[in-house]
Parts: sequence; C-alpha cells; structure tokens
Amino acid sequence: MHHDQPLIVRFRRFLPVTDATPIVTLGEGNTPLVRAENLPARLGVPDLALYFKLEGLNPTGSFKDRGMTLAVSKALESGALAVICASTGNTSAAAAAFAAKAGLTCHVLLPAGHVALGKLAQAILYGAQVIAIEGNFDVALDMVRALAAGVNATIVNSINPFRLEGQKTAAFEVVDQLGRAPDYLLIPVGNAGNISAYWRGFKAYREAGLAAGVPKMFGFEAEGASAMVRGQPIKEPETVATAIRIGNPASWQEAARAASESGGKVDSVTDQEILEAYRLLARCEGIFCEPSSAASLAGLIKHLKLGTIPPDATVACVLTGNGLKDPNTAMDLVAPDLTAVPPDLRRLREVMGL
Ligand SMILES: *Cc1c(COP(=O)(O)O)cnc(C)c1O
Repeated sequence: MHHDQPLIVRFRRFLPVTDATPIVTLGEGNTPLVRAENLPARLGVPDLALYFKLEGLNPTGSFKDRGMTLAVSKALESGALAVICASTGNTSAAAAAFAAKAGLTCHVLLPAGHVALGKLAQAILYGAQVIAIEGNFDVALDMVRALAAGVNATIVNSINPFRLEGQKTAAFEVVDQLGRAPDYLLIPVGNAGNISAYWRGFKAYREAGLAAGVPKMFGFEAEGASAMVRGQPIKEPETVATAIRIGNPASWQEAARAASESGGKVDSVTDQEILEAYRLLARCEGIFCEPSSAASLAGLIKHLKLGTIPPDATVACVLTGNGLKDPNTAMDLVAPDLTAVPPDLRRLREVMGL
C-alpha cells in the first residue's frame, strides 16, 4: 500500500490536527508488518501466526517519529521557538530531526554514558544542543520539567500529550495490515507511553467500527528496570536494553489500565532473555532490531512456555527501533574474530572450513 499523505494527515480524524496545523513530516509511519516464516517452527509452535511491526524503519529509526511529527507540528502551531527533551536516545534523535525540519531549536538532556552511539550521533548531526548529565533518565526528565517552565520551549517527552496521540497510528496500521486486530499485541515497556498509545488506538478503531475486536496487551519491562512489575519505582535501573532503562515510568497508570482492561499483563524479561531473542530475530528472520525491541519477542517466548499465550494465536510483536543504532551491543554479544587473513586460497579454505 502506498500512502502519499503524511501520517498525521492520513489519520487526522483521530487526531487533534486542524487546517491551522503546520504539518512537519519526514515520511514517518506506514512501516511493514512482516510475518515470521521460521521462528514459529523453531519455537515449537508451527501454528502460531506471528508478525513483527518494524518500527525501526521510520525515518529516524524508531517509533518515536510517530509521536514527534504531531508534537513538533503542534509546538510550531502554538508559536514555540524551541523543543526540549530528556532521552535514553531515540526521543532525542526524533526531536532533533523534526526540529531541524521545522526550523526550531532543540535541547536534549541525556543520561551520561548510557545512550547508544548511533542515537547520540543522530541528535548531534541533526543540530540539537546535546547535554550529558550526571544521572539517569528519570533525573534528566525532572531537570527538563524544571528548565522548560522558564523558557518558551515545548517539552516533547511522552508527557507531551500529542506524543501518545501520534503514536496511536501504529495500532491503526497493524489492524489495516492484518485485516483485523491481532489476538495479542506484545511490546517493550520503558516509560510506558507506547503501550498506552497502542491501546488508545485499538479502542478508537473499534469504536469507529474499523475493527471488530481489540488485542490483549502484553508489555515487557527489563527485569532490572521493572518498576511496574515490582510495584515501586526503581532508583538505579540497570539493563542492557538502554531504551527501556527507566525506573519510574511516566505513563504507569495508563499502561497498567491498558494491560488489565484488555486482559493482558505487564511482565518482565531478563537481559539474557532479551539478548537471546535479539539474536534469534536476526538469525531466523533477518531482522536487526534494538536490544530493547527484542523484549517483545523475549516476552512471547516466556508466555508461550507459561501457556498464557496459546500456540495457535495471532500475535503481533512491536519491534520499536533499528538495530543499527546500537552496533556495540551486537559486537559485544557475538565477539567475532576479525583478525585479517592473507589472501591465500589454501589458508582461506582452512580458516573458513570449506
Ligand atoms: C522509547 C523506546 C521504548 C520504550 O517506549 P515507552 O513508550 O517509553 O514505553 C522501547 N524501545 C525503543 C527502541 C524505544 O526507543
């Protein structure tokens, strides 16, 4: 399906977009929903209808673009001159890109030492002012709230109401692409905004008569950052999945409601489960996603084993970001031997086992 219209114009009947809204677009949305051909058999569930929503194919490489196109368009409409955000990486990449397109200044606060290299490179090259602060994401977000109050800058973290509204569009696309709502929607949980947005989207589509049902929503935190699962904020969250390294999710309540209303659950997966799923996706399906994104597949594997998700269900896993953003994690995991070999056929055959 080809869509010429910008995402937030195409779905404007569901969004706060008016004729007065200047549309800031980079060609976001309309990402593929790809069916897994090899994984179901590999996981011992050949009848599973498993789909991946490839959000890493958005213009800045993550789903954040869906919310940012609306947040920056509305910021421009309201006369803001600058946007500001705290970020584990992808929000800043998206904010910086859309701000560049809109001609707005972009300020970014990052937790020092915990942002994947590709994301940092993006924000810097798009021309944002990037400040690393001593402290984690939650600390950075507190600072952003305090800073924005004094200047004419719009906060574009997911506490900006337009972010989640824009992110609803992914749920619309999943239903359109599948021809119906999946039985289960699995998704990583960090600040818990995206799971909340999908749930809003699925409900809105059902209310509009565009889908007969809604999926059960399963969200997955990383175990070292699983505030919702533990029922209390975590002061020092730790996980290899830096995009979900968040100790006090901003959309906690709405996400909890999404899980319970839909008959789903917010659960956690370990870093080891995340990295195994990350590698499986690449090797079995040719999909390179971010470690954080693989929390959805890790969660699926866990709940197939537990029997919570039946082996013949129709399941959509959201792969939130592109693996190219974080090459260091891939290299650390696989630790390939890249010692140069002389261009000698005998020697090469020996090394290659051919
Ligand atoms: C932001 C992000 C998440 C977490 O989404 P929330 O809305 O914060 O729960 C997961 N994966 C990636 C790649 C992200 O960029």
